[in-house]
Amino acid sequence: MDPKGVLRMTYKRFGNTYIVSIEKGEEVVESLKRFCEAENIKLGYITGIGASNKLVIGIFDTKEKVYSSTEVAGEHEITSITGNITTMKGQTYLHIHATLANSRFEAIGGHLNSAVVSGVCEVFVQKVEGEVDREFDPNVGLNVLRL
Ligand code: FE
Repeated sequence: MDPKGVLRMTYKRFGNTYIVSIEKGEEVVESLKRFCEAENIKLGYITGIGASNKLVIGIFDTKEKVYSSTEVAGEHEITSITGNITTMKGQTYLHIHATLANSRFEAIGGHLNSAVVSGVCEVFVQKVEGEVDREFDPNVGLNVLRL
């Protein structure tokens, strides 16, 4: 059971692979985080597709070491969600990128901060046995993998 409440998304497990269906109106990144916590997935990778009309995507400025983000509105196909699941200080940490296409079939993309599902969002999650933690690297300005 999800400690934060009822999960609206549905999912099914086949071995270490999960098929996750995130429903209309749900936010993708928060839903996936809650799913990982509910299923105790600490390491893995994500691939998905869907549709959204309200997103926030970001890009990291490697010189200034800051993220800038922008809101994206209007109907978009999420042509690709790809990302990984790790931990930071033991807590679930998702790193997700997305590419979107608008009604003119133009694509944009970036680091995915959030996306509200407007149609469906179908995500396949592969759990990996193990744990990889992150730590902040001041040289890069990002939370890097600690292997
Ligand atoms: Fe990123």
